[in-house]
Amino acid sequence: MDANCDVLIVGGAVTGAATAWWLLGQRPGLRVVVAEKDPTYARAATALSVASVRQQFSNPVNVKISRFGVDFIRNFSEMIGPEGGVPSLGLKENGYLFLTGSDIGRGLLEELAAMQRSLGAATEVLDRAALAARFPWMRLDDVLAGSIGTRDEGWFDNMGLLNGFRAAARARGARFLADRVVGLDREGGRITGARLAEAGRIGVGAVLCAAGTGSAEVCRMAAIALPVEPRKRTVFVIDAPNARHPEAPLIIDHTGIYLRPEHGGWITATVPDDDGPCSEDDWDPDHAQFEEAIWEKLYNRAEGFDAVKVTRFWVGHYDYNTLDQNAILGLWPGYENFYVAAGFSGHGLQQSPAVGRGMAELILEGAYRTIDLSPLGPERVLAGRPFLEQAIV
Ligand SMILES: Cc1cc2nc3c(=O)[nH]c(=O)nc-3n(C[C@H](O)[C@H](O)[C@H](O)COP(=O)(O)OP(=O)(O)OC[C@H]3O[C@@H](n4cnc5c(N)ncnc54)[C@H](O)[C@@H]3O)c2cc1C
Repeated sequence: MDANCDVLIVGGAVTGAATAWWLLGQRPGLRVVVAEKDPTYARAATALSVASVRQQFSNPVNVKISRFGVDFIRNFSEMIGPEGGVPSLGLKENGYLFLTGSDIGRGLLEELAAMQRSLGAATEVLDRAALAARFPWMRLDDVLAGSIGTRDEGWFDNMGLLNGFRAAARARGARFLADRVVGLDREGGRITGARLAEAGRIGVGAVLCAAGTGSAEVCRMAAIALPVEPRKRTVFVIDAPNARHPEAPLIIDHTGIYLRPEHGGWITATVPDDDGPCSEDDWDPDHAQFEEAIWEKLYNRAEGFDAVKVTRFWVGHYDYNTLDQNAILGLWPGYENFYVAAGFSGHGLQQSPAVGRGMAELILEGAYRTIDLSPLGPERVLAGRPFLEQAIV
C-alpha cells in the first residue's frame, strides 16, 4: 500500500488521542497520524466538559463502556504509563443521583438499576425517607425516589485524560499534526487520501472521523450524511455560601437541571427549552438561563440556595446525535476503510477509554474483541432505527 500513514485520525481530542494510543499499543510501528485543527482545544467538547462518569445508562452497552471507563480513569497513571505524565485524574466518587417524582419514574429507575447491577454497577434505588436520611439538607417534597451509584460514579480531570492519552500516544509513535482536514479522496469504497489545509495531500490506509461537532462536515467529504449537529450548553459555576455540601453527588433533578459540587461551590446547567442546532460559531452564553430556568429549582431543592452568586460560566457544544443521542461507532457501510466515532451527545469523555480500544480493534482486526460496540454501529443510522438512550443529561 502506497500510503503516507496507515491510519489518519481526524480530530485529536479525547476520542482521537485515545484511539491513537490503543492502535499503537496493539500494533507497534503502525504509522498513525492525528490531524487536529486547533491544538489549543479551546472549543473542543473535551475541554469544555463537566468531566463526570456514571454507570447509570439505560442501554447495557453504555453501562459496559462506563464499567471499563471508570476503572481506566481510576488507574489512569498505571494504565497509560509514565509517558502519559499524569500522576492521577483525581477521580472523586461522590456518585450520581437521579431523582424522580412519579411512580412510573420510580419503576424505571428500579428496572434500570437491576440491569446496571447485573453488569457490576452498584446502583441503589432509595425512597424519599432513605434519601432524606442520607442527604438531610435536601428538600424532597416533590421526590418519590432516587437512584444512586455508591461507587464508580463521580468526576475527574478531563484535561488530564486528554493530555495523558496524547503524550502516551506520541511516545508510542503517533504523529500529531496541527492541521485541518479539508477533503477526502475516494476510489470506489476506499478513501485513498486526505487533503490537509497546510500539509497538502496525505495517502491513507484508513481514516477515523473523531471530529466531534465537526464530524458531519468530515463525513460530508466522504458523501455521508451524519445526523450530528452542535447543541449549545451553558454551564454555570456558582458560589452558595449557605449551601456547602462537598460530599453531594451529581444530582440529575427531574425538574430539568443538574448540579454537582466544585471547589466549595457548585456547577449547574440545564437543557434549554428551545434546544436545537446552533451555529458552530455561537459561543454566546445564555446568561438568562440561570435566572429563568435554574435558580428557582435550586432554591426549591435545598436550603441555602437563596444567596447565590454566579462566579463563572462557559459554553460548550455537544456533538448531538439527532437520531438517538448515542455514539455512532464503526466502519461506514459501503466503505472498506472509513470509520466514525462521533455523536456522543454529552457522554463521550467517560466513553473514550473503551471507544478508543474498540475502534483500534475494529480497524486492526475487523471485529470488536472486548466490548461488542456493534449496537452503536452506523447501520441503525442508515436504517433510521433509533437505539435510544433514556438517561441523557
Ligand atoms: C458542557 C458539556 C458537558 C459535558 N459533560 C460530560 C460529562 O460529564 N461526561 C462525559 O463523559 N462527557 C461529557 N461531555 C461530552 C464530552 O465532552 C464529549 O463527548 C467528548 O469530549 C467528545 O470528545 P471528542 O474527541 O469525540 O470530540 P471533541 O472534544 O469535540 O474534539 C473534536 C476535535 O476534532 C477537531 N476537528 C474538527 N474538525 C476537524 C477537521 N476537519 N480537521 C482536524 N480536526 C478537526 C476539533 O478541533 C476538536 O479538537 C460534555 C460536553 C459538554 C459540551
